[in-house]
Amino acid sequence: MVAEGGAQDASFVAAARCAPRARKEHHMAQRVQGTEDLFGGYMRAWQHMQDVARDLFGAYGFDMVETPAIEQVDTFVHGIGESTDVVRKEMFRIVSGALFENLLEQGSEAGLKPKQRLAMRPEGTAGVVRAAVENNMVPQGAAPAKLWYAEAMFRGERPQKGRLRQFHQVGVEWLGAADPAADAECIIMLMEYYKRLGFDPSRLRLSINSMGDAACRPAYREKVRQFILDHADEMCEDCLERAEINPLRSFDCKNDHCREVMRDAPLAKDNLCDDCAEHYAQVKRYLDAAGVSYVEDPTLVRGLDYYTRTVFEVEAVDGGVGAIGGGGRYDGLMELEGGKPTPGIGFAVGFERIALALAAQGGSLETPQPGCVYVAGTSADEREAVFSATLALRQAGVRTEADYQGRSLKSQFKQADKLGARVCVVIGPDEVAANAVTLRDMETHEQTQVPVEALVPAVSARLAR
Ligand code: AMP
Repeated sequence: MVAEGGAQDASFVAAARCAPRARKEHHMAQRVQGTEDLFGGYMRAWQHMQDVARDLFGAYGFDMVETPAIEQVDTFVHGIGESTDVVRKEMFRIVSGALFENLLEQGSEAGLKPKQRLAMRPEGTAGVVRAAVENNMVPQGAAPAKLWYAEAMFRGERPQKGRLRQFHQVGVEWLGAADPAADAECIIMLMEYYKRLGFDPSRLRLSINSMGDAACRPAYREKVRQFILDHADEMCEDCLERAEINPLRSFDCKNDHCREVMRDAPLAKDNLCDDCAEHYAQVKRYLDAAGVSYVEDPTLVRGLDYYTRTVFEVEAVDGGVGAIGGGGRYDGLMELEGGKPTPGIGFAVGFERIALALAAQGGSLETPQPGCVYVAGTSADEREAVFSATLALRQAGVRTEADYQGRSLKSQFKQADKLGARVCVVIGPDEVAANAVTLRDMETHEQTQVPVEALVPAVSARLAR
């Protein structure tokens, strides 16, 4: 085994190489690169993000939904689009064990039925829309379905800061509302969400754009395709490929020079049909009325094919992690997933990037661990009385801890402090004899004896102070 870090002494390395292996090599299980374990404060931060979402989105009439983490590949191909990076390069594809053997033997997935071609969800919208179609959540003439989710997403990207292979998103999907007020309300709710999570709104940049619809986008797309072909000698290989399959994506090519060239390309806002132009103008009027500041970015195109009309993205100006959320309207998606034409709009917010961006602003998503009550016994003779008191408090819903390692009273008090206990219940031979317990205030160290029957109300009263 070679020690970590520092230059190695050559003779040590040689000796290590020649040494017979005395012990079986110790297997250290490791998590997959680009994934994280959520526990402790980080887990509470993720739960806090969900709690804030439940309160805020609930007030806007959204109910929680959870769809499976695996879907048929076709759900994403139809929804997100065959030509997108997410579908072409980033989707984790899976097949069950037996099929995997066949696949290896045949060297192609051509023999697999659509039901056997599965993928881990790379985003939430396609699955929720599939579920809405399959469960008829938006019957014709009914009120819109308003759904929110908090789920893990999976993308086979190259891991880096703020870019994981398994990450978590809170998102909403509002199905059945074509009204520009829905676009504006989604954006207003999103900006309020950041505020409630602790962001300073003046340090967030909301960008909006309209990408047109089925009536005006094809002609606009063709104009952009032509523009790229006219500038072919200045664009990268990827953009030349994009020109044919998804020319609008060249606006956010990773290559700086391509983006520079694209600055002169025709802009969506100058190519909207009257209906889309009016829809976009109305969204902006609502945002203005609500006092939400935004910048119009005519080059904002989102990575997934399903977007129509309004698209938006939010960045923390000093966050250093790129977009911390984004979304838009997708009026054609329900049909692509086999449903009746139904408008839709939604957004998704990434937990890990929110945590990083908030930390860069000096904030935190973490909530303190709720305080507990500690039941301490002076010796093993009181163990049963400690056991009963602990049980009674827990059954009354009080977070309660006790000692399970035979600690001395002094170190039980230390442990209670460490756990943030505000009250300690102390039980010694006198208390057992008197059928009572002593309550010790951990701040003032003031102690009072109360009868066992009064344990729960007395502790609750102290915690409520
Ligand atoms: P998207 O579906 O790509 O628009 O992503 C929505 C949000 O999810 C982004 O704004 C990020 O906050 C987050 N996100 C997307 N991809 C990743 C990733 N690979 N790792 C961490 N967060 C991500």
